Amino acid sequence: MLRIAIDGPAGSGKSTVAKKISKILNLTYVDTGAMYRSCAWVSARLEINGNPLVDKLKDVDIQLKNDSVCIIINGELFDITEEIRTPEITKLTGEIASDPSIRKILLEKQKIIAQSTPVVMDGRDIGTVVIPDAEVKIFLTANPEERAKRRYEEMVAKGINTKFEDVYNEILDRDFKDSSRDLAPLKKAEDSVEIDTTSLSIDEVVTKIIDIVKAKGY
Ligand code: C5P
Repeated sequence: MLRIAIDGPAGSGKSTVAKKISKILNLTYVDTGAMYRSCAWVSARLEINGNPLVDKLKDVDIQLKNDSVCIIINGELFDITEEIRTPEITKLTGEIASDPSIRKILLEKQKIIAQSTPVVMDGRDIGTVVIPDAEVKIFLTANPEERAKRRYEEMVAKGINTKFEDVYNEILDRDFKDSSRDLAPLKKAEDSVEIDTTSLSIDEVVTKIIDIVKAKGY
C-alpha cells in the first residue's frame, strides 16, 4: 500500500503539492496541519468551561473533505475551512501543537487513517513519527523570503489585509517554534528526499515526486 509522507516548514508548498498528487495517484489527502488548526479553533471559539481542551476534543469529529474542514460536536456541524487560516488561529495552533496530550489524540487518529488507506499526508512529523515506515518520504524546503512571499500573495488573493513584513516574521517565528519543540519537532527524516522548491513551480515539484514514486515501483 502506497503511503506518501510530506513534511516541511510553513509555505514550502506541501498542501498544494500533496493535493495534486492525491488526485493524480488516487490517494486520500490528509492535511494534518488542518487537524491541529481545528483543535486551536475549538479552544478559541467553543465554551470549554475551564475543562482541559483534551476532554472537549474527545467529542470532536474532524472531517477533512476535498478543500473543506468541518468539525462535528454533539451532532452540530461547523464549517471552519476559512476560520482556521486566520493569523489568530495560526498563532494559537503553534502553542496547541506543542501540547503532548493534544499531539497524542491527533497522532492516534492519523495513524488509524494511514493504517488502512493509501494516503498522501502532509505535516511536520509525518515521516518521523506518524508514518515512519512510509513507502515514500519527502521533505520540502524553500528559503524564508520565498515562503513568506507565497503566503502573502495567497492572503492578498483572498482579500486579507496584511503586511509582507508581518507574514515574514510569522513564518520565522513558526519555523523556530516548530523545529525547537521537544515533541515531534519539524525535522527531516533521515530516509526522506529533500526538495528545495524555492525556484521550482508547483508542477515541477509534483513531477519530481511522481518520478520518485514511480522509481519505487508504484
Ligand atoms: O501545515 P500548517 O501550516 O497548516 O500547520 C499549522 C501548524 O500546526 C504548524 O505550524 C505546526 O505548529 C502544527 N503542526 C504540527 N504537526 C503537524 C502538522 C502541523 O505540529 N503534523
